[in-house]
Amino acid sequence: MPRPITAVIHRQALQNNLAVVRKAMPNSKVFAVVKANAYGHGIERVYEAFKAADGFALLDLDEAKRIRALGWTGQILLLEGIFSPQDLFDCVQYQLSFTIHSEEQIEWVQKHPYPAQFDICLKMNSGMNRLGFKPQQYVQAWERLNNLANVSKITHMMHFSDADGDRFGQQGIDYQITAFEDIIKDLPGERSVSNSAAILRYQDQLKSDYARSGIMLYGSSPDYPTHSIADWGLQPTMSLRSEIISVQHLDANESVGYGSNFVAEQPMTIGIVACGYADGYQRISPTGTPVLVDSVRTRTVGRISMDMLAVDLTGIDSAKVGSEVVLWGQSSTGVILPIDDVAVSSGTVGYELMCAVTARVQFINQV
Ligand SMILES: *Cc1c(COP(=O)(O)O)cnc(C)c1O
Repeated sequence: MPRPITAVIHRQALQNNLAVVRKAMPNSKVFAVVKANAYGHGIERVYEAFKAADGFALLDLDEAKRIRALGWTGQILLLEGIFSPQDLFDCVQYQLSFTIHSEEQIEWVQKHPYPAQFDICLKMNSGMNRLGFKPQQYVQAWERLNNLANVSKITHMMHFSDADGDRFGQQGIDYQITAFEDIIKDLPGERSVSNSAAILRYQDQLKSDYARSGIMLYGSSPDYPTHSIADWGLQPTMSLRSEIISVQHLDANESVGYGSNFVAEQPMTIGIVACGYADGYQRISPTGTPVLVDSVRTRTVGRISMDMLAVDLTGIDSAKVGSEVVLWGQSSTGVILPIDDVAVSSGTVGYELMCAVTARVQFINQV
């Protein structure tokens, strides 16, 4: 028998979540963002559900090639663009659209030696200050590209820094939209401006021909705890499941695990679960991080080890060796532990948890 830890990928949930994007942005082309190996799910595992999208967006050429190998003939967008002039040969061969965010990238396109028809997203730095041309440099960059014979299409692109938060109050995305629209209003071309948080929260005020949906497709709420996945109609797409492999009884004042940092106040029963940080569960997760045992919500106790963690079995009389443990996602009876609950307890976001699951975890597709 393999170690009992598995990551179950739920195809119906992936389809449901894609439909939520379509409903939110009915007039936009919907791109499924599948960077980081589909947010840890595995590109090949999400492809069946996401081939109903209008395109795929990602970062790595290798991932783009994997999507072509699956038979996808539609659009693929490289979100960080090309990393060297050589990458342009792959863009031609695999028909990849790509972002242009720097002067260097414009020069590489300009110097590309063979005839080509590049499909480009020109990125404006409208306030995030990671990639792109500042508003005052944008028109000049656009004109340079527009004059190149090997550029066939230019889409205006930007990325929100605060669509998920309330730091700017009501203006979470307004200042960026204003900076963007002021510059591009007189230029021809489509717009690509929306991540999950913007799609869900600002669909009414977004002008975007493309939706670039990532995290919402994978059943995590971009603005948790303001909104949960249930609020948005999203479903968990990955369930990290394992089993209890040992049951221990603690007397009062006995501890569990390294550092003895959890001490029982009264006699209690705990379960040892075949899951640890070498499976991708965050070591930083403190006592009290939520978990399901036999579909009942309980908590972790003590420090997370490399291969094991402990859970409180108080009040779960059915629990025994072999009981199902859900670290996040859905139990086999359909009870949900949102990945966002676990992430908040661990001081992180659902994105990081789902990307962190390691190669030794067996992945299973569930239709
Ligand atoms: C990752 C990414 C997205 C998707 O963001 P989510 O918050 O996961 O929806 C959209 N656009 C760009 C440029 C990205 O890098």
